[in-house]
Amino acid sequence: MKTFFDHRMSAPSGSFSPSGEKPSSVVADWLAHQLIEVVGFEPASNVDLELAHCADYVRDIFAGNIANGHHNYDLAVAESTRWTVGSMVAAAIHAVTNGTTTCSPSSGFHHASYDSNHGYCTFNGLIVAARKVLDLPGVESVGILDCDWHAGDGSEQIIERLGLSQQIHHYSSGMLWIKSVSDYFDWLEDSIQNLLDHDVSVILYQAGADAHRDDPLGGLLNDSELLERDQFVFTQMRKYQIPVAWNLAGGYQREADGSIEKVLSIHRNTMKASLQNLFFD
Ligand SMILES: [Zn+2]
Repeated sequence: MKTFFDHRMSAPSGSFSPSGEKPSSVVADWLAHQLIEVVGFEPASNVDLELAHCADYVRDIFAGNIANGHHNYDLAVAESTRWTVGSMVAAAIHAVTNGTTTCSPSSGFHHASYDSNHGYCTFNGLIVAARKVLDLPGVESVGILDCDWHAGDGSEQIIERLGLSQQIHHYSSGMLWIKSVSDYFDWLEDSIQNLLDHDVSVILYQAGADAHRDDPLGGLLNDSELLERDQFVFTQMRKYQIPVAWNLAGGYQREADGSIEKVLSIHRNTMKASLQNLFFD
């Protein structure tokens, strides 16, 4: 699996969320299991980030004038977001131009709105990636399938604010307070059908690990149901030949020593499910 990774995506945030360090941890795990090919990419520029955010907000984050999504003013954390967004952009462009599945080992996007942030998200890499793909010839619409346990409220706000609802079709399980596993899979099936009906050129799939029932900020699904979620998404994408760029999003289970083995295990399962359904490379 082509995985768009650069060590500059990782920055210790010192927060409850392990997502700052997660790109390096996950990629090391996938390389140890011989699952991926690492591909380089360019970081997002201010102009790129302004596809989703107002210029003042972008400037203030990098100047340390306002707190980033991890609720601190650390410029290294801010700078790492150029790389996480750049990874998502590169994965999405590669997926759509090559008609295949790609991975961005990134997190921290969907709570970032036009000019503010919360929930460990600073810039909305999903919207930036969607808009970069929409600039490509022949691309008229892009899908976001957000299976992080929490609401893609930032994504929704930017889509409304910038009038993008005809180009970016956004489905977020976290917007709905889903109570049962069967309702969850009904939502998933309906959302994918809607994306197919809109004839999207690529789907940006957030395979959030915090949908797990043991997650301290989750969740509903057990290990096999989470794997079933990923397998359903990737088999549908292969069946209908829809390119996919997927990323990590949330996951907060930690061992007593602070390590994140359970989160790594969930992301490894997603990677295996995507590899089993790779329809072109
Ligand atoms: Zn989440």
